[in-house]
Amino acid sequence: MIHSIFSKESFLRWVILGFAVFLTLEIIYFRYSQAQTSFTPTYLQTLTEADQLYLDGNVEAAEQLYRQVKQPFPEESNSVDDEIITDPEQLSGANGVYWREAQRGWERKLEGATLVPLRLLVEKQPNFLPAHTLLIKALREFGQEEEVLPTIETAVSQFPESPDLTRLQAEALADDNQYLEASIAARQFAIVYPNHPDAPEFAELADDYFGRFRRDLETELIAAGIINVVVGGGDQAIQLAPLLLQGESGMGMRLASAELANRRVVNDPDIQEYVNSIGQPLAELMGRNDFEYEFFVIEDSSLNAFAYPGGKIFINTGSLMAIDSEAEFAGLLGHEIAHSVLSHGFQKVVQANLLASLGQTIPLGNLLNLAVLENSRRKEQQSDIVGTRAIATAGYAADGLHTFMTKLRDRGRSSTPEYLSSHPVPEDRVRYLQELIQQNGYNRYSFEGIERHALVKQRLQDLGVS
Ligand SMILES: [Zn+2]
Repeated sequence: MIHSIFSKESFLRWVILGFAVFLTLEIIYFRYSQAQTSFTPTYLQTLTEADQLYLDGNVEAAEQLYRQVKQPFPEESNSVDDEIITDPEQLSGANGVYWREAQRGWERKLEGATLVPLRLLVEKQPNFLPAHTLLIKALREFGQEEEVLPTIETAVSQFPESPDLTRLQAEALADDNQYLEASIAARQFAIVYPNHPDAPEFAELADDYFGRFRRDLETELIAAGIINVVVGGGDQAIQLAPLLLQGESGMGMRLASAELANRRVVNDPDIQEYVNSIGQPLAELMGRNDFEYEFFVIEDSSLNAFAYPGGKIFINTGSLMAIDSEAEFAGLLGHEIAHSVLSHGFQKVVQANLLASLGQTIPLGNLLNLAVLENSRRKEQQSDIVGTRAIATAGYAADGLHTFMTKLRDRGRSSTPEYLSSHPVPEDRVRYLQELIQQNGYNRYSFEGIERHALVKQRLQDLGVS
């Protein structure tokens, strides 16, 4: 698995990744326990009746019926702790003093007098956004380069909706010649917050940075004399640089075909039609029309679904069997499509290989695993936001993913499949999805699609691949 051409560092990196790999396929699962979700025959029957009303155009009556059987969400909790503060007047005594000191220091361009109070303030009052912004600016001004990006990363994960922070992040990444990363950061903002007035600016910025990345890489490849190398080094290895140059679509195609070589795909026109009829319209709502979306149903009874770059989505039959409605399935697909749309897998491949030499050949298995490695909490949330927005817009019950998650969480109480034992899932995912739906006013009492999904499950059983 490890090639001798690797340096010691690369060797170590791949060893660590190798360990991480089996533990961390993109699995959505919850082990903590709460009340059991009920999917009794009566419950499903009522939803089926509501679906029929919905399909007949009697949306109001349908909604009434959905409301009758779906348990209401608990009251929205106002988490005061998370509230963002931007007004210095709201700072308590000591924190207000730190802020004034920091500003005085900053005006006089005094490093210690600026950074010391700012660091204290960020620690004591982490929800005060201006302190983060000023700290980042000051770190750059005073040449504390190595601290800039980690500080931004922390701030952005805390204030993902701040265009100022995202702009600082993209700038700092570009300053560090990480144009691809800068492009991805800008694009993620544009996709997650498409209605923000700055969204078009970020989309444009993303294109600019991506162009810059491509030009730089091409120049380096020409200088290194490897521009004409054919992509891929046979079946088992792949050359990194030409693959990056192809971008997400090219990489996705290459990785998906390698994945397919080791998998049994369910080749049934009915199943394929079903998956496409839900997946393709969702993908269209997500703002990356440069991808060719493909959905593969894999004969595998474990509960799993994962996304490769460029819109290549894999769903195990085990997931389809665990699901009860089109809305749930749309939720799962929407989440996976969003990972692809937001370049999460691509970003991981890029990040892991920043230090690799351009001519390096990488074992294909490593790249495959890397692309579907677990995502950070923030990336999971980004995918939940984008995916759930898409299913709500498409007219499905907006809690499709939430329902699926709740079910998985409850199942996890009685059995823990081996691959889940070490998956570090955030424990508040179900609650988070609930807040997302409540805060955005998405409609949970819309089309579920029980009957059609049941037919698909029956079809899988008939095919003997459930
Ligand atoms: Zn995910």
